[in-house]
Amino acid sequence: MSDSAINLYSDTQTRPSPAMRQAMAEAPVGDEQRGEDPSVNRLCEMTADLLGKEAAVFMPSGTMCNQIAIHIHCRPGEEIIAHKTAHILNFEGGGTAAFSGAQVQGLDGAHGQYSLEDARAAIRPKDRYSPQTRMIAVEQTSNLGGGSIWPLERIQGLGDLAARHDLAYHMDGARLLNAVVASGVPAKVYAAPFDSLWLDLSKGLGCPVGAVLAGSAAFIDEAWRLKQRTGGAMRQAGIIAAAGVFALEHNVQRLAEDHANARRFAEGLRNLPGITLDVDAVETNIVFFDIAGTGLDADAFCSRLQQRGVILGGDGTSIRAVTHLDVDAAGIDRALDIIRTLVTEAAAEPAATG
Ligand SMILES: *Cc1c(COP(=O)(O)O)cnc(C)c1O
Repeated sequence: MSDSAINLYSDTQTRPSPAMRQAMAEAPVGDEQRGEDPSVNRLCEMTADLLGKEAAVFMPSGTMCNQIAIHIHCRPGEEIIAHKTAHILNFEGGGTAAFSGAQVQGLDGAHGQYSLEDARAAIRPKDRYSPQTRMIAVEQTSNLGGGSIWPLERIQGLGDLAARHDLAYHMDGARLLNAVVASGVPAKVYAAPFDSLWLDLSKGLGCPVGAVLAGSAAFIDEAWRLKQRTGGAMRQAGIIAAAGVFALEHNVQRLAEDHANARRFAEGLRNLPGITLDVDAVETNIVFFDIAGTGLDADAFCSRLQQRGVILGGDGTSIRAVTHLDVDAAGIDRALDIIRTLVTEAAAEPAATG
């Protein structure tokens, strides 16, 4: 893939900027698994502070944060309540079942979110037939829900529900900071009801690697044991943690630009023949749209666009675009021009293209 392409495939596609690389090159380092890496320690303190939790631990990936949190909270045979589109249910290689023997009850609901009522109804009775409910999981923002923001009221209501039923409450906060910047609700306020939550550094924050898991001191002690056990403990990890420190200092407020660009993209797509989407559903940096009316399927649409320098992903007739710090407003306008040309050509072709 060429560097000049407009890459809207995912916010994981960001490359570290020259300034971030400089911060990485100059990072003070030590042995992180002995607690002696100053850059890792700084990143963990900054994240714990940002999220209002006692402690945090640096992890190689967000998936590892989810799986370690699940392993701490759940025993085999127990059940997690999540939305049916959740990352923990669909994109972690069955890790929840494989590592923890737990199962996920995937709930319905628009925009990747279930309701408080549905969560209440999903809690299993305490009888010998039912798997026992152990955890409630929220994905802020919802990835397959189109970057939708869980309203604070529902997050707090679910927290009360979890507390009343003695359930663990976990946030997959891969894009929590997108929600923070878009809504103006401080990260700490979203984080308060959760026993565990994490941020991904390698998405919109623009780092090459890493995620940070936060919680109580006792929870993070246990997370450290599992990080060590599963081979996630590192050595001079300050080289990559320094990118995270840089990102928390420089790349958070600018997420607003990504949201404006997603909106710009959605507004532009709205008027193109054969494309349908709900512009009002675009709350952060993810845009889903449907191309059924173009006569193309996702494979044809994406491969033709890729040849013209726009990279998108999709499935069936649904396409996902994600904005991030390597795509600016001019790039969005160019992508729209290229898509307009493609769908206009497709409309002029005889049927059964693809
Ligand atoms: C990307 C993502 C993850 C996994 O994070 P990695 O760092 O890629 O392992 C988990 N949850 C959500 C919602 C994500 O978008």
